[in-house]
Amino acid sequence: MKKRVAVLGATGSIGKSSLDIISRDRENFEAVLLTARSSRDKLEELSKQFPSAVRVLADETDGKEKLLSAITKIKPDITINGISGAAGLEPSLAAINSGSHLALANKETIVMAGDLVIRAAKKKNVNIIPVDSEHSAVFHLLRFFAGQDGEKKENVSEIILTASGGPFRNFNVKDMEKVTVKDTLSHPTWSMGPKITIDSASMANKGLEIIEACVFFNMPSEKIKVVIHPQSIVHSMIRLRNGVIYAQLSKPDMRHPIHDALYWPVTTKSTLEPICFDSLTLEFSKPDTEKFPMLTYAWEAARLGGLYPCAYNAANETAVKAFLEQKIKFLDIPKITEHIMRADWSCGSLDLETVLKADADARQRVECGIQKL
Ligand code: NAD
Ligand code: MG
Repeated sequence: MKKRVAVLGATGSIGKSSLDIISRDRENFEAVLLTARSSRDKLEELSKQFPSAVRVLADETDGKEKLLSAITKIKPDITINGISGAAGLEPSLAAINSGSHLALANKETIVMAGDLVIRAAKKKNVNIIPVDSEHSAVFHLLRFFAGQDGEKKENVSEIILTASGGPFRNFNVKDMEKVTVKDTLSHPTWSMGPKITIDSASMANKGLEIIEACVFFNMPSEKIKVVIHPQSIVHSMIRLRNGVIYAQLSKPDMRHPIHDALYWPVTTKSTLEPICFDSLTLEFSKPDTEKFPMLTYAWEAARLGGLYPCAYNAANETAVKAFLEQKIKFLDIPKITEHIMRADWSCGSLDLETVLKADADARQRVECGIQKL
């Protein structure tokens, strides 16, 4: 039977890669829902390729409600969440609550409300399969080395996330003071949407991924390591307690983790180009946390838990928006995040309302601060 797939954020970078995988195997997949924020023309264009899919634009009046109710009504077999930012959280929950498996690119869902989302998925007996390339790598490695249900998890002593280091890997802080939006938007290895590209340059993306790994794999923050690997071929690694490291390698092409999530739990033949060892150099080095303090703040947010990860995400997201609008400088992004993180974001058990309130609160504090600059 065909898997009925919803693609949220269908006009974005993850959306396009997802639709490419779906169109390569029409016998097994059918796109049933395509959503975007505002690109009506792009969405109309997609309807030529996927005529039976329902299309929803989220920025029309009641757009968010329409998006959530379309997911609830359509009840896809699997939902790919490629929405960027905090706006992805509620659609993730709607998908889970409709009984859909979730192929999750939107890391903010886990960063903001991981425990809540994972609990909801358990209750509904649906899987969350990570699409973020590092977490996809770890997810599959753990399946082999820690057992399907994590019953041998004590074998794993560390999760090692790789990071390209972004365009400013070799810059010093003085150089970074002067970078423009254009400099920041040119990523050396990955082609992605603007928000995540800026996050890769500040390493906030790896910060979000540290939190995502802690929550998703239920590991303490000190067991999540980061290593710089500029070629983006090794997508992540796990160290077992015997000291041995296992790695997952493939080209820097998001269609690999999307393919793996869509076919999960089956490993099928792929038509994507495999890596070739004829001229391959792989380098690894230590990240510079002085230059990239967003890493340190993320480890701290992951350690503190509660609403700290949500505040980290909201502060960074609002600061990135201001940077893209040229209201602040690149190095203001970590300064703003650090300032917001100094407030008290501790909290007992999380519910959706508390998370959304903390998200709005952190955003408002950042916006007020920027207005005063
Ligand atoms: P993008 O900017 O290219 O696309 C975002 C999509 O989401 C677009 O279709 C847009 O219309 C839609 N969208 C934006 N705001 C929305 C809102 N408020 N409501 C509904 N829809 C909205 O982003 P992307 O690079 O594809 O990233 C999407 C997500 O996947 C992010 O969470 C990102 O961190 C994650 N991710 C992306 C990559 C990548 O290679 N692009 C890799 C790993 C993880
Ligand atoms: Mg990633």
